Amino acid sequence: MVRVLVIGGGASGMMAADAAASAGAETVILEKNKLCGLKLGITGKGRCNITNDCEVQELIKNTVRNGRFLYSAFSEFGPGDTMDYFESIGIPLKVERVNRGFPASDRAMDIVLGFRNRLRELRVKVLQGTAEELLVSGGRVTGVRTAEGRNIHADAVIIACGGMSYPRTGSTGDGYKLAKQVGHSIVPPTPSLTSLIAAGNISSRLEGLSLKNIAVTLGQGGKIIYKDFGEMVFTSNGVSGPVILSASSHIPDKNPFPCVLSIDLKPALDRETLDKRLLRDFEQNKNKYYINTLAELLPSKMIPVIAELSGIPEKLPVNSITREQREKLCGLLKNLTFIIKGVSGFNDAIVTRGGVSVKDISPKTMESKLTCGLYFAGEVMDVDAYTGGFNLQIAWSTGRKAGTCAAQQEDWQ
Ligand SMILES: Cc1cc2nc3c(=O)[nH]c(=O)nc-3n(C[C@H](O)[C@H](O)[C@H](O)COP(=O)(O)OP(=O)(O)OC[C@H]3O[C@@H](n4cnc5c(N)ncnc54)[C@H](O)[C@@H]3O)c2cc1C
Repeated sequence: MVRVLVIGGGASGMMAADAAASAGAETVILEKNKLCGLKLGITGKGRCNITNDCEVQELIKNTVRNGRFLYSAFSEFGPGDTMDYFESIGIPLKVERVNRGFPASDRAMDIVLGFRNRLRELRVKVLQGTAEELLVSGGRVTGVRTAEGRNIHADAVIIACGGMSYPRTGSTGDGYKLAKQVGHSIVPPTPSLTSLIAAGNISSRLEGLSLKNIAVTLGQGGKIIYKDFGEMVFTSNGVSGPVILSASSHIPDKNPFPCVLSIDLKPALDRETLDKRLLRDFEQNKNKYYINTLAELLPSKMIPVIAELSGIPEKLPVNSITREQREKLCGLLKNLTFIIKGVSGFNDAIVTRGGVSVKDISPKTMESKLTCGLYFAGEVMDVDAYTGGFNLQIAWSTGRKAGTCAAQQEDWQ
């Protein structure tokens, strides 16, 4: 009987263990935490957005780095297979806006508990311990030595240690060290799907304010890096929210900062139409102070900030506002800019960008091209995607493939 050892009992590790055990292998998970699935239990704000119910091409489009590498894994175990799998282990699902799949109960813990039960049924052994070193003999992996001093032997080892984001859940970059030990190169890991830190105090004055239906453009040196519509929120030191998290995936690797974030507060109106709208508003309120005419245009928290940035005295009657002053206000509403000087760290990042380079991993099997019997699954690899269930789909697809192929070890010798 082939013995498969999975390092890491996160999303990809549990799926890999299921696949290996279902294919007939004796399967062991080595997990540093007391229980498997700690991060999985907090995904999707506790609801777990398990997948995005879309076609393979759409999955690849939403994978920011190395989507093509995942073609085979996505094709063999895609969103439909993911949903069939969870329903088959007794977890009813639902699909919400923009194809996002969730457990019908809205409880991420149902996914975790469902997995734990399933692994028990399959007699997958879960050992608590921290993998520290791969045991290798004649170009083949033969097991793992743990930090606790134990040697665990196996015919195949799957590294499913995750990246470095939310390290309190156990994902602390250990997989990179293990992969490096056998010659794999590591694309430098950086936090992604994370908040941006802005220079100045404007964002802190607006802290807590969320904006819907705005357009953002992230640029550097006059070049547009990312552009989209959506929702965002101001934080104590910058900006966050769905559209900002996606923008963070596109921060350049080299010389990342400063970047410029431009917010179009009125994307539905071009400059000319917006100017006409301002003229009309000012006309209807001609004897009012400038500050008292902005309520229809802006959320209340933003009014004093925009008024100050426009340089127009708050108590100027609107009929005294000059054309230049109006144009400046119009410019602010269409292009409110922030200098971005950094991103939040790994503690708050939803995923890690970078990781084990995919150039030395077979996309057909997830096996290392450098060491026989060694496989990879999930975020430990240099793959990352936008929010929307895509990152977990990567974990399921690669976990399934690594587990199935690892269990077929002997057939390939
Ligand atoms: C707050 C938050 C919310 C998220 N929400 C979503 C969502 O709704 N939808 C979505 O698609 N994605 C979401 N993600 C991303 C998704 O959770 C990850 O991409 C996914 O969990 C990666 O799975 P993984 O198995 O590769 O790694 P992980 O889930 O990080 O699991 C790695 C496991 O390996 C263990 N481990 C590490 N090193 C060792 C070692 N040396 N020895 C033994 N064990 C070790 C860790 O303890 C951990 O249990 C979210 C992420 C966060 C942080």
